[in-house]
Amino acid sequence: MSILSNANPGEKPIIYMSEVYAPTLKEDPADAEIASHRLLLRSGMIRKMASGVYTFLPLGMRVLSKVENIVREEMNKVGAQEIMMPALQPEELWHESGRWDDYGPELMRLIDRHDHGFCLGPTHEELITALVRNELKSYKQLPCTLYQIQVKFRDEIRPRFGLLRSREFIMKDAYSFNADQESLQQSYDDMSRAYGTICERCGLDYRPVEADSGQIGGKVTTEFMALADAGEAELVHCACGYAANTEAGACIAHPTVYEAQGLEKIATPGVHTIEELAAFLDIPESSTVKTLVGQDGEGNLVAFFIPGDHELNEIKVEREAPGFLFLTDEEMEAHGLHKGSMGPVGLPEGIRIIADASLRAVSPWVVGANEDGFHYVGAQPGRDFTVDAWADLCIVAVGDDCPECGAPLAGARGIEVSQVFQLGTKYSEAMGACFMAEDGTEKPFIMGCYGVGVTRTLAAIVEQHNDEHGIMWPMSVAPAHVCIIPLTVDDDEVQPVAEKLAREIAAIGFEVVVDDRKERPGVKFADADLIGWPLQVVVGKRGLENGTVEAKLRRRDVKKDISIDLLTELLASVRRAAKEGRNLRIDGIGMFDMLFD
Ligand code: ATP
Ligand code: MG
Repeated sequence: MSILSNANPGEKPIIYMSEVYAPTLKEDPADAEIASHRLLLRSGMIRKMASGVYTFLPLGMRVLSKVENIVREEMNKVGAQEIMMPALQPEELWHESGRWDDYGPELMRLIDRHDHGFCLGPTHEELITALVRNELKSYKQLPCTLYQIQVKFRDEIRPRFGLLRSREFIMKDAYSFNADQESLQQSYDDMSRAYGTICERCGLDYRPVEADSGQIGGKVTTEFMALADAGEAELVHCACGYAANTEAGACIAHPTVYEAQGLEKIATPGVHTIEELAAFLDIPESSTVKTLVGQDGEGNLVAFFIPGDHELNEIKVEREAPGFLFLTDEEMEAHGLHKGSMGPVGLPEGIRIIADASLRAVSPWVVGANEDGFHYVGAQPGRDFTVDAWADLCIVAVGDDCPECGAPLAGARGIEVSQVFQLGTKYSEAMGACFMAEDGTEKPFIMGCYGVGVTRTLAAIVEQHNDEHGIMWPMSVAPAHVCIIPLTVDDDEVQPVAEKLAREIAAIGFEVVVDDRKERPGVKFADADLIGWPLQVVVGKRGLENGTVEAKLRRRDVKKDISIDLLTELLASVRRAAKEGRNLRIDGIGMFDMLFD
């Protein structure tokens, strides 16, 4: 595997900053809230054209090409074949799948001069299914996986955070066509492995997370999350390797027992919330039980009981009571319910009781008494009331038990950089895409889809690799590897040495930039750190008197005076080691560290 790839085939071996279109900014742009957005703008890599719409400038483009090439290599390795579908998609195909109506306002729709409807593709399931349905015909041609790296459009309600949530962005999307579930699982596993490798090669600290606890059974989707405080997703994870999106993860809560002698009704004047109840009784919220009442889609009343320190998970509720909606205050009153003091004992007839499985192990409960200003302590399921069903109902929280090993879960935030998904026959059935199976019958393709947010990945890398001075690119995606900074450029001492050194380092096989701009050294140093060149070499008169230059490792902020001969010798050995894949992390982050160890 080549850790060092060339961004622009055919370009001159040395890049001169005086010629590069990279307008850096000294000040933080006003609307950039997070590091990646701020630093990509400031370092002159991207520019905003409209809300959620960006241009990539030359340095940003170099990084983008490298990320794309990493993705491309990993796709090719698992046998996926690259294609390119149009971004402009005819409306008819979206009617066939039913998504023209389902997709909503995120779909960018337009009409051509002949009054034909189109959309700008947010994803390509419709197009790819239409593409293969008449030409991929026999089981002998399967499995077949096609991918593209292409621009996508989504009219996001809140475009923000620069490249993380934009309206026009680059995605690598792949689609597999399989003859049976076993083959789909194989494609899915191959893709999942490739996605892990892509994250690693991009230098991302990531977790594959359970994104759907699987109503259909089995794991049908995994999201790859780059850990970052700026991420929109909330995660729980465990040292054993388990990780889940809190929206989807199984929850094993840890309610605590409040010991009581039998069922006892106590006056709790003015207590309406769990927080107030816990404070009034001087017990933790985890010792109380929360009651939430609503109606399922068929109009049946349902009461959910969960540990007081947890929140109800809407996705899980939907599973237990499809179409569930909370009662309004008026509806509660009409059913004889007392908001703020509801509980299972003495609940009006005909309400189905579903309780969180974690409450099974703790008894008695502290609950509302269905009477304003009163609660029960010591309420015992089975004796004082009947639970109709036990289920996993809560949003998993930090400190809950890991469903795989039982250890307490830790929390983190994540950026979803990619996702793999088993689609099954959803699109092939809707759009009539069938093949001739081995037994001679016609069957719909079993499909998988797999997406990498290429521009989002780029931003996630910056989110994880920056400091107060700027970006710290991993070697694998850096716009170039070594930046040579001559302190003076008009003389015949420093500049020729810088020039010669650049040629030598380029000849070794690294991408070299020379900052030959007529700027003060301070400006060049600041820009070099902002842009994030992994290795910076400062050439100045004083050093040259002793035959040395100053090498600086951006990631570790360490500097070292070193003779030019030793520097090039060491760089050559780093290059050899990189070629052989020795002593280097796969992403090449630590590649130059050996110069300083
Ligand atoms: P999100 O939940 O963040 O909106 P999604 O689950 O809708 O994303 P997918 O349909 O799974 O996104 O698309 C595949 C990948 O495309 C995502 O994992 C993400 O990396 C990227 N992506 C999706 N929406 C955007 C966007 N608005 N801007 C940049 N990248 C995006
Ligand atoms: Mg997704």
